[in-house]
Amino acid sequence: MKNQLLGQMMDSPLLISNILDSAARHHAKMEIVSKRAEGDIHRYTVPELQLRSKKLAQALKQLDLKMGSRIGTLAWNGYRHLEIYYGVSGSGLVCHTINPRLFPEQIAYIIQHAEDKIIFFDQSFQLLVESLKPLCPLVKKWICLMDRNLQTTSDENYETFIANVSGVFEWPSFDERCASSLCYTSGTTGNPKGALYSHRSTILHSYASALPDSLCLSAMDVILPIVPMFHVNAWGIPYSSLLVGANLVLPGEKLDGKSIYELLESEKVTFSAGVPTIWAGVIQYIKNNNLKFNHFKRVVIGGSACPPAMIKTFQDFGVEVIHAWGMTELSPLGTVAKPKSSDKLKTKEALELIHKKQGRVIFGIDMKIVDSELKELPHDGKAFGDLYVKGPWVINQYFKANESALKDGWFPTGDVSNIDSDGNMQITDRSKDVIKSGGEWISSIDLENIAAGHPFVSMAACIAVAHPKWDERPLLVVEIKAELTITQEEIKIDILRFFEGKIAHWWIPDDIVFVDKIPLTATGKMQKIKLREQFKNYQLLT
Ligand code: AMP
Repeated sequence: MKNQLLGQMMDSPLLISNILDSAARHHAKMEIVSKRAEGDIHRYTVPELQLRSKKLAQALKQLDLKMGSRIGTLAWNGYRHLEIYYGVSGSGLVCHTINPRLFPEQIAYIIQHAEDKIIFFDQSFQLLVESLKPLCPLVKKWICLMDRNLQTTSDENYETFIANVSGVFEWPSFDERCASSLCYTSGTTGNPKGALYSHRSTILHSYASALPDSLCLSAMDVILPIVPMFHVNAWGIPYSSLLVGANLVLPGEKLDGKSIYELLESEKVTFSAGVPTIWAGVIQYIKNNNLKFNHFKRVVIGGSACPPAMIKTFQDFGVEVIHAWGMTELSPLGTVAKPKSSDKLKTKEALELIHKKQGRVIFGIDMKIVDSELKELPHDGKAFGDLYVKGPWVINQYFKANESALKDGWFPTGDVSNIDSDGNMQITDRSKDVIKSGGEWISSIDLENIAAGHPFVSMAACIAVAHPKWDERPLLVVEIKAELTITQEEIKIDILRFFEGKIAHWWIPDDIVFVDKIPLTATGKMQKIKLREQFKNYQLLT
């Protein structure tokens, strides 16, 4: 544009390496504490993280890698994984965190699709890695994250890989819009899709997520991200904790109630983050053992709707629940449920309702709800429609996709919600055909396709039903072929067996119900909304 008057401020790019350098310089005593697979607790300060990340960057520089090459990780939350976050992205390479809970064929698909050149893996994934190697010919190196003397695989060792370089290294400077990290989501239909974050989007997300009405992070905090570093960058905490200079505690592989509680107490953790299923385990452990929290102050719960009873229980234990909504495609934070000053006058019940909702947008994100013709609906707390978002940390295209992921410049989330006049968003349904169990996705379409291949099945629909531990579990609704003479119980057992070996075991439906006719729309599509309504109170036996 002509006649612009540009501001006269320094024009330095927003790079992930700046977060690390700044923390090392200004929060040099900040500690990173990791529970290791080696069996001990490992501690060091940010300058040591910086040194080892730089060593990794130097070691990677000796290999034939181009700017933007993808480097994969199959790893739990730990200091070496953090070094990879910073060393890889800081070098201009892309840190691709892979979800080890997917089944091997899906993981192989993701690795091949991303064209990962190196995979860093925790030794506990040794068997998985062996099964992946023949399926992933593009990977040139598999490097094991373990103390050298305790490594039992014949692969290259991480400590050896970074041993013979000095760590004297200047991070390269480049365009802040360059790709920094990659995370695949199974929360859509079809193959997993990659969200490719940039340095700019990551830094802006870190700033926004640390705000008081966001996660409210500060240098006074000790932060324990239980959400894995392979789930949307642990909700950005590996970046935001260094940005504010808070101590960071990384829990490793053991995420049962006892292990988490002990770490919360021994490390005097003040803030943590995770999906409801994890917290259900912690609460049960505390109640069973008559314990209490002595340091824990705030917990962000998201990934699935936080049950109101969980909010209440945490409050009774003196812990504030921050209910948040987000997605892989949003880096992930979109909204946070926090009251505002005008809410002070509200009744206790009205205030409780705010906590139960998914919350207000944080600045940077804009949201709207639309009807089937994409017409915007009012923010009156009653009208509900498809939730659309936009902002500088929302994807515009999936990695290597040929087309934009947007409609009219907005990203369709696949969630259905209302928004009240105070801007509080509340999810009421999901239009995308997936089920979220314990924070992980199950594709209902994959389950339906398998069921449809069973000789007794005429048509099958898979829907989510509520589950006290896993939040949602799959229920298969089946229309059987008319001529069958065996009992429904026998048919059920046969169909459930039919799933075995075809999908991960935890994807197998919890139960099967039989209906005379699956309701269809005028265009012949299964009317899942009707089925969800019909079975909304279905009690699973498990
Ligand atoms: P993911 O990309 O795996 O993080 O999943 C994002 C999806 O999880 C969202 O689109 C929602 O369907 C669901 N989700 C995330 N947070 C919440 C929440 N607080 N309440 C309800 N659903 C949620």
